[in-house]
Amino acid sequence: MQGSCLCGAVEYEVTQLEMPITHCHCRTCRKAQAAAFAPVAGVLRAHFRWLKGEDSLRAFESSPGKLRRFCGNCGTHLVAERPGKPHLVLRVATLDEDPGMTPAMHIWCSNDVPWLQDAEDIPRYAEWQPDR
Ligand SMILES: [Zn+2]
Ligand SMILES: [Zn+2]
Repeated sequence: MQGSCLCGAVEYEVTQLEMPITHCHCRTCRKAQAAAFAPVAGVLRAHFRWLKGEDSLRAFESSPGKLRRFCGNCGTHLVAERPGKPHLVLRVATLDEDPGMTPAMHIWCSNDVPWLQDAEDIPRYAEWQPDR
């Protein structure tokens, strides 16, 4: 299956997810993705390859030895990795195809900011809210 960044400069292919899809609530994911949590899954390097735009990638070392790679044009975060480790941590919301799995757990909830949580009971609309 394939995935891409927002602007389309970077595309990748992944043959399978090796680990369950996990919603990571850690502070650095929250900041990097500008979201309450980041859906992620581990992928072996052997099962991942950049299809185009690898030269557009930039990286930020969010903790020692951990590189968060994102598109230098649109800012979409795509993977996090520790060079030398056998796997990448894919930001699965950038997939353009259904991986056939659904999220299995939330982790690092100790880093939650309370005002972003407990949003399950608020209204959901297919598009914009009525009366907008
Ligand atoms: Zn991009
Ligand atoms: Zn995280």
